[in-house]
Amino acid sequence: MLSRKARGLKPSPTLAIAAKAKELSAQGHQVISLSVGEPDWDTFPVIKEAGIKALNAGQTKYAPANGTPQLRTAIAHKTKELLGVDYKPSEVTVSVGAKFILYSSLQMLLDPGDEVLIPAPYWVSYPTMVELSDGVPVIVPSDEFSEFKVHASQIEKKLTAKTKLLLFNSPSNPTGQVYTRAEIEDLVGLLRRHPQLIVISDDIYNQLTFGSEPVAPHILHLAPDLKNRVVAVNGGSKTYSMTGWRIGWALGPENVIQAMSNFQSQTASCASPFTQAAVVAGLQAGDDEVHRHVKELVIRRDRFVTALNQVSGWRAGFPQGAFYVWADIRALLERKWHDTVLKTSAEVATALLESQKVAVVPGGESGLEGYLRLSFALAEPDLTEAVRRIRLFTDSLV
Ligand code: PMP
Ligand code: GLU
Repeated sequence: MLSRKARGLKPSPTLAIAAKAKELSAQGHQVISLSVGEPDWDTFPVIKEAGIKALNAGQTKYAPANGTPQLRTAIAHKTKELLGVDYKPSEVTVSVGAKFILYSSLQMLLDPGDEVLIPAPYWVSYPTMVELSDGVPVIVPSDEFSEFKVHASQIEKKLTAKTKLLLFNSPSNPTGQVYTRAEIEDLVGLLRRHPQLIVISDDIYNQLTFGSEPVAPHILHLAPDLKNRVVAVNGGSKTYSMTGWRIGWALGPENVIQAMSNFQSQTASCASPFTQAAVVAGLQAGDDEVHRHVKELVIRRDRFVTALNQVSGWRAGFPQGAFYVWADIRALLERKWHDTVLKTSAEVATALLESQKVAVVPGGESGLEGYLRLSFALAEPDLTEAVRRIRLFTDSLV
């Protein structure tokens, strides 16, 4: 009965692990979830108040398929402030989360067989979304020696006559690595040498960066003239801690944005108007809170990574953005937990959840074995307790 696509489709591993952690909590276990990528702090009060006000004012009916003019204008202003590029509201589209916006852009850009370059480790949903859009994911691997970033020359080697897109994400989920200006400059060089290549830049974490700049270096910062070859994706989920509100957006060439808006109007219809009004408040008045949370994340990162590195067999660098630690656990592979020899990151993650009730995401799901992704967007006592349990788990391996 099921289609070919349905038969091959797995649920999102991050959402599946988070659901499993919630299920164990509901059974009364004291679970610490370092799995799903969402901030532990509440949506900012100014945003909630704007949402409630809009709800009470009756903004509860269909909105335009590409988003309200107020939100598209606010997004264009914010993007000008952050990336220095001018966008008209007609070059912006809004829908129900950045995930659906990414899917909408892939659907509108790919023909069957088109190749999409995806640097690994990648966000778990990229290859599946490409396949669902009839494209072919082409993975560009990286390793610890390149700090889990790919160089433009590695991307260049993977180009073929069928290459259509580069799916780029900095700060990266799952590694928290941020491409430097120099590395982005090399990418700009690559784009100039290959005028057929289009970029989807997933900027969802670009204000959660730990350097001196308020935003991660961006292709459009360095090459605003490439605006007609870049689809920039962002949303409210991470910056404003609005994961459940489901608002994401894209800025790009008018014909791509118009096509995405048509796709959205035939599928999701629209994002709810009162949540869009709430995001406007975040864009206009959320900066101070964002900066406060970024400072807090740096403190948590430093303590968490330092403590984790003191557990023998665990090695992690200090991420430069987002809120993930990418931990090297290759030293644990081939060791035994009860009667099971742990062969993969998924087996380590399962054993850790079962034995110590700590939920993490296996790196294998992001295209690189031997690593785990741990979110540190959690309160300090939980992070301290997580490390204590990780140590107990590690000591129990033989
Ligand atoms: N891109 C990346 C890299 C992500 O980690 C996520 C996860 N939230 C998204 C896009 C999608 O975000 P949302 O759908 O919540 O806006
Ligand atoms: N993007 C987040 C994560 O990687 C949220 C879960 C999801 O959308 O897959 O954990």
